[in-house]
Formats: sequence, C-alpha cells, structure tokens
Amino acid sequence: MSVKVLITAGPTYEAIDVVRGITNRSSGKMGYAVAQAALELGAEVTLVSGPTALAKPQGVKTIDVTSALGMFEAVKRHMDGTDIFIGVAAVADYRPINPSEQKLKKNSGNLTLELTPNPDILAYVAKLPKPPFCVGFAAESEKLREHAEAKRKAKNIPLLAANLAQDAIGSDENKLVLFDDAGEHVLPRANKLTLARQLMQHVLKLYRQGAKQ
Ligand code: C5P
Repeated sequence: MSVKVLITAGPTYEAIDVVRGITNRSSGKMGYAVAQAALELGAEVTLVSGPTALAKPQGVKTIDVTSALGMFEAVKRHMDGTDIFIGVAAVADYRPINPSEQKLKKNSGNLTLELTPNPDILAYVAKLPKPPFCVGFAAESEKLREHAEAKRKAKNIPLLAANLAQDAIGSDENKLVLFDDAGEHVLPRANKLTLARQLMQHVLKLYRQGAKQ
C-alpha cells in the first residue's frame, strides 16, 4: 500500500475588501517540488495550494484554496488516512477581522485594519490524537538554527526544514538545513526539485523508522 502524503504549498491571501488583501511572498515552487518528489517515490499525493502561477503537477490531487481558513478546512477534509503531512505553505499569520464586501474608499486620514490570528494548521495536525508524521518548513531571515530548533519544539514535530528567506523567495534554487532528533543535516544549494528529492528521502527514512513526535 502506498504512503499517503498531504502537502500545503504557496501563500495564502487574506481579503481586506473585494479587491485588496494581505499575502506572503511565496511562489509555491518549493511545495510543488516536494509534491513532485513524493510522487516520484510512489506516494499518493494531495496538494492543498494557495494562489500560485504554477502548473498543477500531473498525478497529484491538487485542491486550490485562497485563505488560511480555506487551507485549514481543506487540510481537515483530506486528513483521513494521511501518513505524512508536510506544511510548506507560507500561511498568513493574521487576517482582517471584517473583510469589507465593498471596495473601501480612500480618504486623507490614516486607516486602521484590525487583524486576528489565523489557526496554525501544522500545529493543529501535529496535535491530533493520532498525528501523521509531520514535517514543517521555516523561512527565517537570521539565526536559522536557533529559530528552527525553537519552532520544531514549539510545534512538536519530528522534522523541520529551514531556509533563509533571502535564499529562497521567488528563486528556482534554495539551500535547506534539516533539523531532527539526530541533529542538523545540510542540503547544499541546489534547485528546488533536487532539494525536494533529498528531503523526501530523509522524510521517508524517518517515517519508516517509526519516528513520531
Ligand atoms: O511559525 P511559522 O509560520 O514560521 O511556521 C512555519 C511552518 O508552520 C510551516 O511549515 C508552515 O506551513 C506552517 N504553518 C501553518 N499554519 C500557520 C502558520 C504556519 O501550517 N498558520
């Protein structure tokens, strides 16, 4: 029986009004590459994708979503039977509390937006009574090891792939450092599909060793 992998990818878009929103700088390339690499290893892959300009990977079941809440709902709906969950999406941390159904009109004064935190999808999945093997991604702008290890502990996940935002955003290449119970593994600079293949080999090895949080 093949391994079932659920992946989130891309940014989320949080509406301010009908034409404006808050989003993150994420092309979706890394998440789509991870989906492709998992498929090549024979997994059954579901990809929950925020808005990207990328072609859908063939052979992968892709679910398009817009907002963090939409992504959260799609993940919950497709969780059943998932063996491995990989959160690659750059989920917006906050969303406007009351998106306007009409285009907001400008005036000369300041505008205050009230934001409320979005659910942490990865943390939710990792806290399920019988969680799948959970993998997180972290884009940092500095102190990679410190922030990555803190995040891995806070989210209670066995594996976290960290990169420097300035190395990754919009680029076809990246450099990853994997953090797990055994320590730190550097995947040197390469194109995102090459890195995704190396990451998936590592994920499958740990998954097969039965590593759980
Ligand atoms: O805490 P931070 O956002 O840096 O954590 C990044 C990791 O958590 C990524 O794997 C990302 O996909 C996931 N995440 C999530 N839901 C959120 C925020 C982050 O699944 N609301």
